[in-house]
Amino acid sequence: MRTYLETLGCQMNKLDSELVVGMLRESEHTFVDDPKQAELVIYNTCSVREHAEDKVLSRLGWHDKRQADGAAAVVGVIGCMAQRMGGELTQRFASVDFVCGPGQIHRLPDLIDAALDGRKPVALDPARSEPRDAAAEAGVNRLDVSRRANALADEPALATLCDAQAYVRVARGCNQFCSYCIVPFVRGPERSRPPQAITEEVRKLLDAGITDVTLLGQTVNSYRHAEPNGPTTRFADLLAHLSCLPGLRRLRFVTSHPAGFTRDVLEAIRGLPNVCEYIHCPAQHGSDSQLQAMNRGYSRAEYDDFVAMAREVVPEVVLASDFIVGFPGEREADHQQSTELIRQAGFKNSFIFKYSPRPGTMAERTYADDIPDDVKKRRNAELLAVQNAASLAHHEGYVGREMEIIVTGPSARHDKQATPPTPQRMQLMGRSRGDHIVIVDGPERLIGQYVDVTVTGANDRSLFGDLRRQP
Ligand code: SF4
Repeated sequence: MRTYLETLGCQMNKLDSELVVGMLRESEHTFVDDPKQAELVIYNTCSVREHAEDKVLSRLGWHDKRQADGAAAVVGVIGCMAQRMGGELTQRFASVDFVCGPGQIHRLPDLIDAALDGRKPVALDPARSEPRDAAAEAGVNRLDVSRRANALADEPALATLCDAQAYVRVARGCNQFCSYCIVPFVRGPERSRPPQAITEEVRKLLDAGITDVTLLGQTVNSYRHAEPNGPTTRFADLLAHLSCLPGLRRLRFVTSHPAGFTRDVLEAIRGLPNVCEYIHCPAQHGSDSQLQAMNRGYSRAEYDDFVAMAREVVPEVVLASDFIVGFPGEREADHQQSTELIRQAGFKNSFIFKYSPRPGTMAERTYADDIPDDVKKRRNAELLAVQNAASLAHHEGYVGREMEIIVTGPSARHDKQATPPTPQRMQLMGRSRGDHIVIVDGPERLIGQYVDVTVTGANDRSLFGDLRRQP
């Protein structure tokens, strides 16, 4: 069956899409990159940002129109948006044939069969307060790694990873309840996977040729697994277990939460050679009153302490952050404190978002969205300008240095170069241990390989380098 899969959202969604690709390939689905050519269309959509949801709602409107014109495909929505909207999607859009929450994707082949029979199945995860089904949890955690590694290689929707890289989920759900965020409601309470299951999964990935693993959790550093009457594994312990696996060259993790970022994790980064010195740990704001309204669970001073501790324990650490502008009640003075935090912290980059209320969140229920859009836009632009200047200064600090990168693929602009690319020489993109994007010219065969480069230039997004060593 010709299948089009579009993934909008975070790494969690991308990982779920890997599972979907692996599962559907087994039942003879082939993947196409044009929804008009597909017999089955699946949207895997994040609910955290309004923008991602709006995109999918507009695509569903397009499918409704196509269906009315007689060109029908089976259409499904999976992921957090599916969980949040549930049956509303099938009621609002005649073209939607099935809806599947993030914890139900192991049931996808059955849901597609039911949709082909003309039923409109809606499979959602239990509410936070309801008991969780152990079989369902096990089902969605189960992976056939060889299929998954195969899926990584040539699925356009997963093109951000090369076939030496993989995501591994270590925990599902979140207990933080940031007031603007829907995740705790759609992905449920935090559940850490047993360390044995994670180790086994990483081992299989290494056997399949993966060398660079990113551990995923909504608040990954709060990973904690206690055996009944047995030992407790904390996140630093998990890093130590995994780092011993032969063939693992790089181990990193996202996303961290500042509250409870403990020194032992930093010591693991410093002491374990294959654990990368990169931490994405969103601050979200620089002002105490805004952090409190966001229910982030830490103060500005505590975030500053985290940054200072990270730099003290791991002097080479590369930090990245996220910020929200225009959250309800944000005064000009609050905004200036975010600006000041970016200037002080030396983040490699920050993702900056304009606040928009997400239905079902505490902020949406509690606060008026009282910052005018033009003010949000201005503050967004100001923060971005400050971050771009900080990113440029950060990147310029690497010029003249040598670093190892993994080559992840052709650069985004490789086909726009003055000299047309050839397999012998094209513009390639790689990642450093600190997650820097590094642009380098070289042969296509280097994709998936580790090479040494000398950094010769920088802008606010990337480093530019010359190859020194290649395999
Ligand atoms: S830590 Fe906060 S922002 Fe992150 S997933 Fe949990 S509730 Fe959402």
